Amino acid sequence: MSELHDRHRRVLPDWLALYYEKPLEITHGEGRHVWDAEGNRYLDFFGGILTTMTAHALPEVTKAVSEQAGRIIHSSTLYLNRPMVELAERIAHVSGIPDARVFFTTSGTEANDTALLLATAHRRSNTVLAMRNSYHGRSFSAVGITGNRGWSPTSLSPLQTLYVHGGVRGRGPFAGLGDAEFIAACVADLKDLLGHTRAPAALIAEPIQGVGGFTSPPDGLYAAFREVLDAHGILWIADEVQTGWGRTGEHFWGWQAHADNGPPDIVTFAKGIGNGMSVGGVVARSEIMNCLDANSISTFGGTQVTMAAGLANLNYLLEHDLQGNARRVGGLLIERLRAAAAQDPGVHEVRGRGLMIGVELTRPGTRLADPGRAAAVLEAARAGGLLIGKGGGHDTSALRIAPPLSLTVAEAEEGAAVLESALRSTL
Ligand code: PMP
Repeated sequence: MSELHDRHRRVLPDWLALYYEKPLEITHGEGRHVWDAEGNRYLDFFGGILTTMTAHALPEVTKAVSEQAGRIIHSSTLYLNRPMVELAERIAHVSGIPDARVFFTTSGTEANDTALLLATAHRRSNTVLAMRNSYHGRSFSAVGITGNRGWSPTSLSPLQTLYVHGGVRGRGPFAGLGDAEFIAACVADLKDLLGHTRAPAALIAEPIQGVGGFTSPPDGLYAAFREVLDAHGILWIADEVQTGWGRTGEHFWGWQAHADNGPPDIVTFAKGIGNGMSVGGVVARSEIMNCLDANSISTFGGTQVTMAAGLANLNYLLEHDLQGNARRVGGLLIERLRAAAAQDPGVHEVRGRGLMIGVELTRPGTRLADPGRAAAVLEAARAGGLLIGKGGGHDTSALRIAPPLSLTVAEAEEGAAVLESALRSTL
């Protein structure tokens, strides 16, 4: 163990599971690369979804943050805050939600908490529908809507949660069905649930499950759900913490692949929009946002420095069409990985969209998850100078690829070559 790892183990919780047998201390980054404390350089195929959506040490964001930090950071709730109003205006505009209001938080968990606060207050119900295998955070209420058991350490939730099928295509009772049959089966399941429950407040769902392994429900699933929800007055909350801001390439928001019948009632976002600064938030129609009889609910949500980061980052990603980049470069990467997978009996599926790509590993000749190989691929990729992630349901057997959205074609090729060799060496 390194000296820092030793100290980490002594003072931080045991359940902070670090990646790698020899955990990594990242000391600096630039663009799509990071360096560790020993001076090794890595191509970062995971940081784009963890923190740094656009690029490491992006000069535009660094400048905005340092200038604002040198000027003022003060209450964003008691006094007027220009960067917060400007970013809210921009997000309301791109959200597609009519008469949108935006509330800023410091994390995705807090954003989902706020969405639950709004939905339960608006509907006067503490029953919530969530997806099996979902991840929405680890606060007291967010664990209560997190269907991924590995990530929800307690079920003592203040909410009554019912879990719905559909977020994962290849597992569960509806595995193997075609798109239309799968959607019909999930809708029937949802209707069945609603038949014997007290009016739920909302359905919360990730358009593509992130921690759950970059799953790929068929397009249109949530549009079909929406019709059922609307008939009962149930709100639809899209958790765009991983899928938002163009990551999926074809769309700016993940929900757009699912719904041509209008935007969700509430959208939550976080992670990358601050390019590493803590920006999260909720967008909702004003009648929903304003149903609370609240004062401020976050001291640090919307501080000037995080809003300056969000504005600089949003400007950058729109001006440089990073959504288009995700579509083009992600498309090439998916194609190349699919070709490699065709030679590898242990790759069950390469799935995803844009720069959100999952590679599901199973034991050759079976449908059994292969978490051991996933861990080995992570180690081998690291040794080759590439950082990737893993995820999944009960077994973390999916490799997760989510680089910063500015990834170049050359970097995609370089990373794919390392990953292919990591797959070959672990077969
Ligand atoms: N929602 C989703 C879809 C997430 O992936 C995450 C984080 N992995 C969260 C919510 C929670 O966000 P945070 O860690 O910023 O609280």
